Amino acid sequence: MTVSASPRTVYLDNNATTACAPDVVAEMLPFFTEQFGNPSSIHAIGASVAPAIRTARERLQNLLGVAHESEIVYTSGGTESDTTAIISALRAYPERREIITSAVEHHAVLTVCEHLARHEGYKLHVIPVDGQGRLDLKAYENALSENVAVVSIMWANNETGTIFPIEHLAQMAKPYGILFHTDAVQAVGKVPFRLSNSAIDMLSLSAHKIHGPKGVGALYLKRGVKFRPLFRGGHQERGRRAGTENTAGIVGLGKAAELAQAGFRDENIRVRSLRDRLERELMALIPNTIVTGDVEQRLPNTTTIAFEFVEGEAILLMLSRAGIAASSGSACTSGSLEPSHVMRAMNIPFTAAHGATRFSLSRDNTEEDVDRVIAVLPGIIERLRAMSPYWSSSARAPAEFQPAYS
Ligand SMILES: *Cc1c(COP(=O)(O)O)cnc(C)c1O
Repeated sequence: MTVSASPRTVYLDNNATTACAPDVVAEMLPFFTEQFGNPSSIHAIGASVAPAIRTARERLQNLLGVAHESEIVYTSGGTESDTTAIISALRAYPERREIITSAVEHHAVLTVCEHLARHEGYKLHVIPVDGQGRLDLKAYENALSENVAVVSIMWANNETGTIFPIEHLAQMAKPYGILFHTDAVQAVGKVPFRLSNSAIDMLSLSAHKIHGPKGVGALYLKRGVKFRPLFRGGHQERGRRAGTENTAGIVGLGKAAELAQAGFRDENIRVRSLRDRLERELMALIPNTIVTGDVEQRLPNTTTIAFEFVEGEAILLMLSRAGIAASSGSACTSGSLEPSHVMRAMNIPFTAAHGATRFSLSRDNTEEDVDRVIAVLPGIIERLRAMSPYWSSSARAPAEFQPAYS
């Protein structure tokens, strides 16, 4: 049996992954066939591939405002870039035994940091957030010291879309000689970048979150930053990431970066207005509902709405039956009944955190997609609440429940 997305599927899970753009696929295809060569080879078949890899690098540089081509290292994606950045910093500064991160990082950062603390004796500072998902700047300031090797804090949150004041955070770390890394996987293509003038030392990105292929990404490495490679072997990527280049993937990443830049202004404005209408109408139609995260500083494509007294998994299944793909926040928490670590870090009331549902849009979405959700979701929530013992036995707005935002 083949499962194919029927044309009627409304895909609103773009923070988990995006559809590869047709133009991206088209540029990649020759690198599986005629242009199969190894870019390190001397002969013509190999050498013909090298320019395509350079072009991809230039396109990424343009999107990120990166001055030097040597500052971009291709990797297998966001997870590898995150791990590489953190481990590299620790190896480059072995006398520094502390790490700073935030409570709402993606598992690609949080799990690595927790592992280092538990099994390798590093001291880990996990900076908390407030009810709107904003970083506790005082706690961050207090954690900074010359004992810290690396700060790894995300640019924008994958669950709520909350944007951290990342440049400010990087500036604050500077006087201590700390390396500053940011996971910008969700920010790329959605916020403007100018890394050439930035205090950021390392930055992670991933192609499949910007309509590129899965399994390829990049690490930005500011010139002069001490670096220790994770993989050793061949001299690819100037000895910083061994292994024959994923040529088709890299070409796809470059094309995806070019498309993201070309549509940057118009598409982000259009997507923001779709997201805002979806959010506004759902809030108006469905009582006991909160929008999570910092609505003032937020990615244009993301909203996570917590519906009180309903189970997120049930919402997702019923939406899926109606041909709508959304998420309960972190894909990694799906399947467990625990609210995600991001909802817990924001202290979203338990009764609401369970019903947190993330809608993440992309340039592929239309007004009709939003109409579909608005048409079916209020009925779904009503039916689920009718079955919920908590909903029927409680006052409709319990006294202890203070919406963070309404
Ligand atoms: C998706 C994601 C990652 C992981 O990227 P992969 O390319 O899938 O390894 C890391 N961080 C954030 C914020 C993400 O959204």
